[in-house]
Amino acid sequence: MIYLDNNATTRPAPEVIDAMAACLARDWGNPSSSHAVGQDAKRVLGEARSAVAALLGAHPVEVVFTSGATEANQWVLEGASAALDGKPPLLLLSAIEHSAQLKAARRLAQNGRARLELMPVDRDGRVDLAAAARLIAPGVRLVSLMAANNETGVVQPVAEVAALAKAAGALFHIDATQAIGKLPFDFAHCGADLVSLSAHKVHGPKGIGALLVRKGLVWPALLSGSQERARRGGTENLPGIAGFGAAARLAAARLRADGEHLSLLRGRLEQGLQARLPVRVFGAGAARLPNTLSLRIGTLDADLVLARMEQAGFIAASGSACSAGGNEPSHVLTAMGIPPEEARGAIRLSLSRDNTIAEIDALLERLPGLLAAPLAEAA
Ligand code: PMP
Repeated sequence: MIYLDNNATTRPAPEVIDAMAACLARDWGNPSSSHAVGQDAKRVLGEARSAVAALLGAHPVEVVFTSGATEANQWVLEGASAALDGKPPLLLLSAIEHSAQLKAARRLAQNGRARLELMPVDRDGRVDLAAAARLIAPGVRLVSLMAANNETGVVQPVAEVAALAKAAGALFHIDATQAIGKLPFDFAHCGADLVSLSAHKVHGPKGIGALLVRKGLVWPALLSGSQERARRGGTENLPGIAGFGAAARLAAARLRADGEHLSLLRGRLEQGLQARLPVRVFGAGAARLPNTLSLRIGTLDADLVLARMEQAGFIAASGSACSAGGNEPSHVLTAMGIPPEEARGAIRLSLSRDNTIAEIDALLERLPGLLAAPLAEAA
């Protein structure tokens, strides 16, 4: 099996599995207990928090562990929706945010708790800065933008949007879920007040992530309780946190090597496919994550391409795992102006440090043959 769906999730690294097993077998105490067993667990918690902070250029007190990026993202919307003057606050999200985040924002708007506007993107899937500059005006409470898109990999102009948000007095949130471990990230200098992350996209476990909350920002608690400096109550998911810490340590140590490896593989894959098949790459004109390739092959339907690939042992996806299964074309691609019938053909190949040149070459060798009959039929 050759796994090419790493934007959906990554395989946990051996170091992550070891850290989690050690936590379960040895450091299983409650970090809030003052006795020695609890203090061992507290040390694990502190070390993991420092590792996550170090990967992101944050201070450890700025890291609040959550169940993942979905929770962190929706905490941001909830926190920003607290009415200050009786009026529902105005939230500004990009049109290509994660589908769960857009859904949560729409629900707040439907319930009258917030007003929602979307920042459009250009043909390559980058937030349209001229439109953003018009929309980000005094009175906007929150501006939210992902660092890089999960479907296309297109890197977003977060520094420019951060400056606009700052000038308008708005909070700025970055969903950095897909960027961490693939691109350098520096919370101290990125201009964001809040940043969401998830461990399982960087070879960590599922069900654990974090919200970075800038020091000094007054931010409402998500769950009452004393844990996480009273910001998110509940006994910590310590095995998950230990795994996240190990994943962060690895990602920091390998950031450069991983980035180079991914760029090499993705370049070989993209050029190889273009040389062999009628391929249209989405977001090709923009800077993209080094691991992501979103494309359409001829006029073939994504389901057909993916089924042929899977029969031959290649695992990939159409767009995002979270919205796969529905017949709706991707909201990311349609926001880029791609017609629904073309968007339905999109497949996403997403790589990780675990992939090899031999795997890329195997796909390049096999895919034209797997698709020859359907391509001839479609022609
Ligand atoms: N944001 C983005 C950009 C993502 O790609 C994902 C994962 N599909 C999420 C948020 C949700 O993360 P989690 O699985 O940790 O809830």
